[in-house]
Amino acid sequence: MTSTMGTGDTRVRTPSVPNSAVAALRASFGGQVVGPADAGYEEHRRVWNGSIDRRPALIARCTGVDDVRTAVRFGREQQLTVAVRGGGHSFPGLSTCDGGLLIDLRPMNGVRVDPGARVAGVQAGALLGELDQRTQEHGLAVPSGIVSHTGVAGLTLGGGIGWVMRKYGLTVDSLESVDLVTADGEFVRAGEDENAELFWGLRGGGGNFGVVTDFRFRLHPLGPQVMAGATFWSMDEAERVLRAYRDWIADCPDELMTIVVQRLAPALPVVPAELVGRPVIAVVACYAGDVDEGEEVLRPMRGFGSPVLDLFAPKPYVVHQQMFDPSFRHGCWYYVRSCDVAALTDEVIGVVAEHGRRITSPLSSIALWQMGGAVARVPDDATAFSGRSAGFTFNINGNTATADGFDDQRQWARDYWTALAPFHTGVYVNFLMEEGGTRVRQAYGDTKYRRLSALKRAYDPSNFFRLNQNVPPG
Ligand code: FAD
Repeated sequence: MTSTMGTGDTRVRTPSVPNSAVAALRASFGGQVVGPADAGYEEHRRVWNGSIDRRPALIARCTGVDDVRTAVRFGREQQLTVAVRGGGHSFPGLSTCDGGLLIDLRPMNGVRVDPGARVAGVQAGALLGELDQRTQEHGLAVPSGIVSHTGVAGLTLGGGIGWVMRKYGLTVDSLESVDLVTADGEFVRAGEDENAELFWGLRGGGGNFGVVTDFRFRLHPLGPQVMAGATFWSMDEAERVLRAYRDWIADCPDELMTIVVQRLAPALPVVPAELVGRPVIAVVACYAGDVDEGEEVLRPMRGFGSPVLDLFAPKPYVVHQQMFDPSFRHGCWYYVRSCDVAALTDEVIGVVAEHGRRITSPLSSIALWQMGGAVARVPDDATAFSGRSAGFTFNINGNTATADGFDDQRQWARDYWTALAPFHTGVYVNFLMEEGGTRVRQAYGDTKYRRLSALKRAYDPSNFFRLNQNVPPG
């Protein structure tokens, strides 16, 4: 018996591992092998989403490529379900499992920056904050995501959207090559000139093709100071604010990247006590260019109507990158629904205004991402990532601190998403929960899905790596 559940399901049962095999693994492994009886097991089995509570039989905490190869071969020999973890921020908890082998890359978090050549080598266990810190020492950056404790690996393998994408493209658009351990435990490198089809699939196709051990990125000049922050209005103003926002961004430069947020005003030191807990709509932005120019571009929106709070200021890019960190703490209960839409039509604005008013949890929120710019200028078939022509991406988060009230927030997120259904144009694969094979196919579209499926057959015909947004071998 190897699995009791369907493809991609993390609640699988696997056979128990003989003690002699575990002892042999420990003897040949550079890092730690942690079992349920070992110190640290409780800490290392946890993932970011507190609603996911799974217990792997073994956690292989890798220190390098050799450990990854050893772990993959062990998992295969023992017929274990294998989960692979970078930063552990998969919304549906795909980077852990019950009873199988967890290949934990977190100890491999080195970042090597060559400022002259403008490239960075990044090990697969690094977090965005670790990458930003090292690159910003040289006034350089890799376009990445907006919460600094997210993993570089999972984010990159799905595409990578963030504050400077409209200027410099997706994270995958700055990827030069990757090192990977295949399902057979073999080491391969993929780039434009080497295993090009695999490289195409890795730029959006997730963890389907192997365990990436190292990424090599091109770096771009940025900051270190940027004009960034947020302006808040009362949620009652949502329709007016969104219409003004739509007009304001219509002709904006690529340097400007915005996200509209709806939530209850958070209890943070920068938020006045009388505002905390009140429903607000905010335009959050980062200007990836000259600070004074950014101030000019932002002025009309910041001056619109009667804002209740304005937090825009020149600041270090690394500080802005951490702005959302307190809103997405480890261990809270998280649920997300996501979709792309083509435009902020009056109908879409109506849905946003109506459902935003129904937020009741201090941790629930929506992020409405402005797409376009450099992302849309890369040909759609250049990478496996889909959604380059999206106008906006919705990320609707029904979150609570504990299990208490979680069902209600999840339902709120589902209702919001369902109300947007007439306008859905696609979905970003990294914002999917475990929503089934049809949704994964929708995320890629039929043509790319078939191409990914053929690639899967070439690199992982037995679907050994299936705890991901799974594309089964075609
Ligand atoms: P993990 O849970 O470790 O892994 C996620 C998936 O990738 C799993 O299937 C795992 O097996 C696989 N995987 C991980 N590492 C490897 C590897 N080395 N080789 C092969 N497969 C691997 N996305 C954005 O694009 N932009 C954002 O700004 C953004 N913000 C986010 C903020 C938060 C708080 C969260 C929770 C998510 C955010 N996301 C964002 C989505 C994010 O990109 C995905 O959740 C991503 O999968 C997280 O990567 P990770 O390494 O932390 O996850």
